[in-house]
Amino acid sequence: MSDQTGASNFIREIVTADLAAGKHGNRVVTRFPPEPNGYLHIGHAKSICLNFGLAQDTPDGVCHLRFDDTNPTTEDPEYVQAIQDDVRWLGFDWHEKMFFASDYFERLYEFAVKLIQKNLAYVDTLTAEDMRGYRGTLTEPGKNSPSRTRAAEENLDLFRRMRAGEFADGTHTLRAKIDMASPNINLRDPVLYRIRHATHYRTGSAWCLYPAYDYAHPLSDALEGITHSICTLEFEDHRPLYNWVVEQAEAPCRPQQIEFARLNLTYTVMSKRKLLELVSKKLVTGWDDPRLPTIKGLRRRGYTPEAIRAFCDHIGVAKREATVEMQLLEHFVREDLNRRSPRVMAVLRPLKIILDNYPKDQAEELEAINNPEDPAAGTRRVPFSRVLYIEQDDFREDPPKQFFRLAPGREVRLRYAYIIKCVGVTKDPQTGEITELHCTYDPATMSGASQEQRKVKATIHWVSADHAVKAEVRLYNSLLVTDLAKVPPDHDWTTYLNPASLERITNCLVEPSLQQTTPGTRYQFERLGYFCTDLDSTADAPVFNRTVSLKDAWAKIEKAQPSR
Ligand code: ATP
Ligand code: MG
Repeated sequence: MSDQTGASNFIREIVTADLAAGKHGNRVVTRFPPEPNGYLHIGHAKSICLNFGLAQDTPDGVCHLRFDDTNPTTEDPEYVQAIQDDVRWLGFDWHEKMFFASDYFERLYEFAVKLIQKNLAYVDTLTAEDMRGYRGTLTEPGKNSPSRTRAAEENLDLFRRMRAGEFADGTHTLRAKIDMASPNINLRDPVLYRIRHATHYRTGSAWCLYPAYDYAHPLSDALEGITHSICTLEFEDHRPLYNWVVEQAEAPCRPQQIEFARLNLTYTVMSKRKLLELVSKKLVTGWDDPRLPTIKGLRRRGYTPEAIRAFCDHIGVAKREATVEMQLLEHFVREDLNRRSPRVMAVLRPLKIILDNYPKDQAEELEAINNPEDPAAGTRRVPFSRVLYIEQDDFREDPPKQFFRLAPGREVRLRYAYIIKCVGVTKDPQTGEITELHCTYDPATMSGASQEQRKVKATIHWVSADHAVKAEVRLYNSLLVTDLAKVPPDHDWTTYLNPASLERITNCLVEPSLQQTTPGTRYQFERLGYFCTDLDSTADAPVFNRTVSLKDAWAKIEKAQPSR
């Protein structure tokens, strides 16, 4: 069994072997189980690709979308909707197998009654603080709670009254009776139910008793007939409890829990708690802020589902925790956008140039290639005239050694157009700042013309002053200035946010074909990078997000010789 790229991984191998051995009734049923307490991020995408991918690649395989909604205080229908949108956008389908753990509350309650009857669960009246004291440590065993010997009859009565709302929050819990001396702390009589007088977004006030994750999750899996329950590494030590719950509650099937390493990315945050903090403190513009590694953020920034899937396939699935460089994710979106994006010309920081020998009232429509990677994309016309704008960066009055672009007395080619020569520099008499360049063009050097002989060392992009459209461009840099793994836990992590994570440039000029752009359209701005029309864009005022830059050869050279 293999995915689109033919890559295998240890989980695929387990599933293949299980199928060959006829385990789990020859079926593969996986699930993606988000808690609807936030938006999905690129880490979730890894889990989505794995779970839906396994199902897709197996005949009759299915992957359920299950909302793990057992916590009334943090969950919200907004998240339920956003999660569905994102899974679909990533290119996966649950084929109507969408479930909610909250739909199982009654059955989970019945399983708990069974555990009490089997003398495998008891109602505890220890306070949370005392319970911590009784739990022991990694090196010392725990102590039995005085409630542990309560008779089944009394436990049943108390549990029923807990459900009926007779007790306040925190006064009673239902605990599994396993082993307070177990070296695995998860098995020291874990809490199965807590009292919480809270309204749940789906069940309203029907319940004041909510199941713990370690209890609800295995039983939800079992109720849905999940064969392989794939989760992240931190649940490895919970696996004995998972198996205990499924076995002792006599659940209808025995899903197999398999753990894999979660995705970590450099210079960003992926905990939902931290993402929520950024959003609620308005440190970003929302869950879809293009600086965030959320699916909505990446999408708004211009990422494609194909690029995200290719990245997830590439990083694979392993048992060992590792941090992946953000540059790798960027590499995959660059590759994908290179294939699919039409090329256009845009000038982010305009410098005016006047072609002294170009007729004043003349304009030409020059042919430009839409995508050299895709001949079917055809060509378009770009207007050319006497006054143009080029990038400020493409001119140096006093060019350093390896700078081959425009400089006084020097020639460069204008993309799809002529060779020009800089013959004069005009400066503001007060500030000394360059205000415009005077150039001449050579009419015999039209790009692609057969008589073209002359070689120039650089080709630069441009827009025509009379035809260009004013636009805002948003450049994004890393969200954080350091990796949070390196930050002491008592530091306020938000102080490590990168103040330059968003750079807005409002007086950019783009070629006129971008006048009619619609949000979500992706382009390569020649020589600058890949850009995507933002949601804030209007017909009068287009706005573009930089998805990712092109690899910039000059920036590398400049970095390599700082003492020039
Ligand atoms: P929190 O950030 O609050 O710990 P969570 O990221 O675990 O929450 P869930 O909604 O429980 O959020 O996640 C749904 C599924 O996605 C889980 O099965 C989880 O294992 C998986 N998942 C979450 N984060 C990652 C990640 N960084 N890499 C891989 N899988 C992940
Ligand atoms: Mg979780």
